[in-house]
Amino acid sequence: MIYLDNAATTKPCEAAKAGVMKGLEVFGNPSSLHRCGLDAELLVTDARTAIAESLGCLAEEIFFTSGATESSNTAIFGAYKSQGKRKHRVVTTTIEHPATARPIDELERLGCEVIRISPDENGVISAEAVADAVNEDTFLVSMMLVNNETGAILPVSKAFNAIHRRFPKVITHCDCVQGYMKLPIKTKTLGADLISLSAHKICGPKGTGALFIRKGLHLPSLLMGGGQEKNMRSGTESVPLICGFGEAVKHYSQNIAERLESAKKLEALLFELCEKNGGIGVNFRGEKSPYVTSITVDGLKSEVLLHYLEKRGIFVSSGSACSKGKKSGVLAEFRIPVQVMDTTLRISFSPDTTEEDLRGLMEGISAAQNELARLK
Ligand code: PLP
Repeated sequence: MIYLDNAATTKPCEAAKAGVMKGLEVFGNPSSLHRCGLDAELLVTDARTAIAESLGCLAEEIFFTSGATESSNTAIFGAYKSQGKRKHRVVTTTIEHPATARPIDELERLGCEVIRISPDENGVISAEAVADAVNEDTFLVSMMLVNNETGAILPVSKAFNAIHRRFPKVITHCDCVQGYMKLPIKTKTLGADLISLSAHKICGPKGTGALFIRKGLHLPSLLMGGGQEKNMRSGTESVPLICGFGEAVKHYSQNIAERLESAKKLEALLFELCEKNGGIGVNFRGEKSPYVTSITVDGLKSEVLLHYLEKRGIFVSSGSACSKGKKSGVLAEFRIPVQVMDTTLRISFSPDTTEEDLRGLMEGISAAQNELARLK
């Protein structure tokens, strides 16, 4: 099996699986006052500390959620609840994941003025354009770090730090899902007040994630109830999933730079193999994460090719997994022509991806080019 759909989800690592098991065995409710509760609470604290250390922030700034979708919804609606009555402008980009884009669409329906910055003709979002769109009436700026469809890296630190210099009260939110554990991310340099993270994109379990909330920022919660997570996120903590998340972070946070170098070598090989093939184009080659690449295979519809490859045990995605066959608005924002979009595949790496995987992928694509072209 060659699995190259890691931007959709990753295979949990052994450390994460062991963490989930540990969290199942330590079955107490972290809120209980007795020893069983305390043992569970210790596991949650340990995971919180690991995530905080990886980001260079305080453990008390990390709040567990059910995943990045909940983190981003909490960030965006929380910002609206705290400041949206007095201020009306939200600044974002046109290439955000739906977990950010849909809540912001909802703010627009609620009466906010939303400014969406598009990439330029080279697929680049300009930090200046984002910062210049912020005015006195702005309460929220939301901008992702790594685009999940093309791998484009956005100039978040530059934009957010410029914004905070002029407007210190504007709340900045960054979806770091595709950058976490892949690029070196520190909360201080990123300049984000709020950061969304997801465990299942970093070889952890599905159904858990975190929201970083900068100390001093008071955000209203969306879920009310038992007051867990310091009232930010009521509901009994999913100790097994949180514990698995923490173990994945401990496992991968030590050698981010080395893995990044290996991923860059794999990306260079992927580009080389695409060029050798002659019928494959790379859709975005600007400043990007090597872990995600969008390619186009001339004349072969994405879904047909995806299922052809699947029969050979090769798993990739057509555009974004979240779009489930719908045309991707994000790829259009990168000025990828409609006919090219129909033939687009997303190739995404994990720490386990090998050169052999990429050679296997290319053999599969070449076979499809020969076989499917003959049928035309
Ligand atoms: N943001 C980005 C960039 C993503 O790629 C994804 C998942 O596809 C999400 C947010 C949503 O994450 P989760 O599945 O944890 O809700």
